[in-house]
Amino acid sequence: MRNCIKCEQPIEENKGTGRKKVYCSVACRRAAELEIKRTNERITGLERIAENYRLKIPVLDVYGKEEDVLAELNRQENRLKELLAGMNG
Ligand SMILES: [Zn+2]
Repeated sequence: MRNCIKCEQPIEENKGTGRKKVYCSVACRRAAELEIKRTNERITGLERIAENYRLKIPVLDVYGKEEDVLAELNRQENRLKELLAGMNG
């Protein structure tokens, strides 16, 4: 049994249609759309910081180490892909 990408609750498969559901409800699908928007904004911010590291522009201490910024960027991109994959289902 699959779990909802948004709330992680098990999804009841609708038999016969052959289509795999990715969200348990319309509410979760809507919430995922909003999360896509927020994740996009987060990625934009992280890319800007990563660019500063690349160009050797001084970066505020609060952003931490370059490798941590890149790791977080990677995490957010994976989450975005996961959410976008669900938009077809
Ligand atoms: Zn859900």
